[in-house]
Amino acid sequence: MNFATKVLHGTSCFDSVTGASSVPIYQASTFHQADLDRPTTFDYARSGNPTRQALEDAIAGLEGGERGFAFASGMAAISSVFMLFSAGDHVVVAEDVYGGTFRFLTRVLSRMGITVTFVDATKLEEVRAAIQPSTRGIYLETPSNPTLKVTDLAAVCQIGKEHDLLVIVDNTFLTPYYQRPLELGADIVIHSATKFIGGHSDVVAGLAVTKDAALGEQLYFIQNGMGAILGVQDCWLVMRGLKTLKARLDVSTRTAEKIANWLNDHPAVSRVYYTGLPDHPGHGIQVAQASGHGAVLSFDVGSRERAKALFDRVRLPIVAVSLGAVETILSYPAAMSHASMPAAEREIRGITDGLIRLSAGLEDVDDLIQDLQQALEALPPVTVEVQNKKEAFSRA
Ligand SMILES: *Cc1c(COP(=O)(O)O)cnc(C)c1O
Repeated sequence: MNFATKVLHGTSCFDSVTGASSVPIYQASTFHQADLDRPTTFDYARSGNPTRQALEDAIAGLEGGERGFAFASGMAAISSVFMLFSAGDHVVVAEDVYGGTFRFLTRVLSRMGITVTFVDATKLEEVRAAIQPSTRGIYLETPSNPTLKVTDLAAVCQIGKEHDLLVIVDNTFLTPYYQRPLELGADIVIHSATKFIGGHSDVVAGLAVTKDAALGEQLYFIQNGMGAILGVQDCWLVMRGLKTLKARLDVSTRTAEKIANWLNDHPAVSRVYYTGLPDHPGHGIQVAQASGHGAVLSFDVGSRERAKALFDRVRLPIVAVSLGAVETILSYPAAMSHASMPAAEREIRGITDGLIRLSAGLEDVDDLIQDLQQALEALPPVTVEVQNKKEAFSRA
């Protein structure tokens, strides 16, 4: 089955009991057990609920894994997966992971005796060099946020296999429509379903999928033990969003491509980050391991003053923390997702004061470009300092 069909008919397209065209919301915390000698499929809703089960089966099918799990948020999924590790274990982590993941690892998990080393995962030798005798896992996110660095998943999974490590991939940006890390050798895939999978900026949710059944049993034990499950109404909303995932991404990705190319030629923009641009350093790997470039891009307008002027003038996109929705979202990493990072560290990583992230929605692309154009036209002139930087970059 191709993805477009699978996303609708992969698990079940109607309720097997009543024939209802969408999975009913089983708003129940517990289940009648008629015969004490015969265990029922569902007994208590933290341990399992038919509505949640339907979503968990759907995401497992789409990612090509054995078991799926739905959590209360992306961070609930990520923190629960990290509970697979024990005190004394060490994990190699891509340095530009989601800010919340960084905070969880450095401020919470560190207190539990689980240590991490951050590496530039696009450099395989850095991944290799970070592995210690106590290393048990590798944690990746590709393309990364907000400069869309691409990690070679098959190559890192191979390193993981050589050292018997659990390879975990946050697949939020591309979704299983464009990228399926389990097929490239990963053991666990994670999603913030708050983003593209939910897709409508109306629900906070997380998902995880394990490649094999044994790992699935371990993660199930943690999901049930920690209890950070997704409520049934939100499960239903995520399933509703999932049905249109491909249709939404087809449009949003086309829009992102067009905007990226247009910005790339715009004199007021010093740099565009989008894996679909042939000069993006990760373009080749992206094309080899994913079937699309997704709906997220970033661009640099040179300074905080100019970024602020753009935010003040755009009318269509909502300005917000988040991405992956029906409406186009603009965010400002320096003050939003990466505010806690020291300015010097941000500069090194390309997260400059002029960097703006755009997640394309479903609006008419020409309307979006027109809106960005009127905003860019009004920007204050670039300073000599910024101009010099731009020239240095284009010479490099
Ligand atoms: C948003 C996000 C998360 C965290 O998900 P929540 O649903 O907000 O908890 C994790 N990873 C990535 C890549 C994200 O964009």
